[in-house]
Amino acid sequence: MADTLHPTVRPYDPHSPLAHLMEIAAAAVDEASEEEERDAAETSAVHLVYRAYTYSLAQAVDPETWQGYPAVREHGARRFEASAVACLGGGLWLHHTLRITEADGASDVLTLIVPCTCGRGYTDTVLDTEDVLIEVLAEPQPTHGLSPHDDRTSDCRSVWSAPPLGNRP
Ligand SMILES: [Zn+2]
Repeated sequence: MADTLHPTVRPYDPHSPLAHLMEIAAAAVDEASEEEERDAAETSAVHLVYRAYTYSLAQAVDPETWQGYPAVREHGARRFEASAVACLGGGLWLHHTLRITEADGASDVLTLIVPCTCGRGYTDTVLDTEDVLIEVLAEPQPTHGLSPHDDRTSDCRSVWSAPPLGNRP
């Protein structure tokens, strides 16, 4: 029985077109390794920073700061794309990932994660442009980088909706 399912001798010549086709097909469906996903996630974060945050993040955040995380899969399906985070100090983080849709292809999603003054959570802001980053950073300065807690909005609960990062320290 086992011999029938797993014939030891290939029924085709290893140099045949079929053998070549089989290799191409196998390579095409091969998932990137976790290490490759981490590297790619770090690279795309660094590229975005140099492309769109020339005057701020590109100056302040060393490319080595970015730590990549592989995609999160659930039951074999891809639930979250690979991501990268950069610790800015003071409890602030940057999170970068790609949003991939059939219509638009891949687009960058860069999020600034700021601890709330209440100590119970974080607020996160998706950064569309460098101007947004500057605006957000300028705002919490009186609280030394923390996001001022506001009972009316309960913004800091947004920590629960932030993209999971696997093992965020
Ligand atoms: Zn709060």
